[in-house]
Amino acid sequence: MSDAALPERLARAITLAGPVSLAQFMGAANAHYYATRDPLGANGDFTTAPEISQMFGELIGLSLADQWDRAGRPAARYVEFGPGRGTLAADALRAMAAAGCTPPVHFVETSPTLRAEQAKRVPQADWAVDLVGVPEDGALLVVANEFFDALPIRQLVRTPDGWRERLVACQDTLFLPIVGQRGFDPIIPPHLRGAPVGSVLETAPAAVAIVRQLAKRIVAQGGCAIVIDYGYSGPAIGDTLQAVRGHGFVNPYDDPGEQDLTAHVDFATLAEAARAEDAVACGPVEQGALLTALGIDARMAALAQRTPGRAESLRTDRDRLVEAGQMGSLFKALAITAPGWPMPGGFA
Ligand code: SAH
Repeated sequence: MSDAALPERLARAITLAGPVSLAQFMGAANAHYYATRDPLGANGDFTTAPEISQMFGELIGLSLADQWDRAGRPAARYVEFGPGRGTLAADALRAMAAAGCTPPVHFVETSPTLRAEQAKRVPQADWAVDLVGVPEDGALLVVANEFFDALPIRQLVRTPDGWRERLVACQDTLFLPIVGQRGFDPIIPPHLRGAPVGSVLETAPAAVAIVRQLAKRIVAQGGCAIVIDYGYSGPAIGDTLQAVRGHGFVNPYDDPGEQDLTAHVDFATLAEAARAEDAVACGPVEQGALLTALGIDARMAALAQRTPGRAESLRTDRDRLVEAGQMGSLFKALAITAPGWPMPGGFA
């Protein structure tokens, strides 16, 4: 299989044509990584909120159903970007059905391995590789959890000679970061241009392009999106590229395609991209505050009453999702809606 030789192929491309951008390196590495495995869970590389507790997907689903109800119950489609194992969707769709909302399901997913996992939990889904494959009628009820952090980023680095792009070079099969020759000072926001030597500024062109496309479709068709990820309100200085493997951090330039490469999501820039398409963007709000506003404590109590033996583990899971020292503050949510649509709960 040609994919098995990703490091060799990348090395050859770099030897022939010169260093590649970090975005090219990250894009190629993650495409291979997700295509060839299910990375989630205790035996995988990382765990996500829907894999921690059913409460996460249920509350997101109830929030979408509530919005759909307040919008007058239009014909609608459930769309999820990067659904992983399909756990969030299964929990959300069950909660939505209980509220009378049973839309057709569209998964935007490139990995054949994960599509197979998703089909086990949500057999009625349709798959697409991007939004072009989702029909242009019906309001869109959109979810993306830990999707945008996996998209390729560019890094600009402040050197003594000004701002340069981070490139990836290669010696034998060892990959390493270098800085390019070309100057990038004119595209650095003026207030950040004078940052100290060594400072890193990240941009996420793929994430911005997807948000613009998504916002355009939401404006045209009606609907809303809830985007959840770890991140910040930028643009801001900071190198957030990280690689995880077996639940630990590793060197991002090692073993391309065998470890998960991510970067923190710049929510302010994504909100601005949505507004550029005339959508309404609200947030980011912290995940802990959002889940609390959506009623996680009442949901926990109801589940604990039904199965008292689970009360303690429900509390542990709730704390993991909500508490500031755990996922509650670093993870944030952005809402994007069509003009005239109600804001989802928790996004005052
Ligand atoms: N949302 C899930 C999984 C997060 S992992 C959860 O919370 O558990 C990232 C997901 O995005 C995976 O399903 C991966 O295959 C998918 N993905 C990554 N890059 C993608 C791309 N460019 N296009 C579509 N899906 C992508």
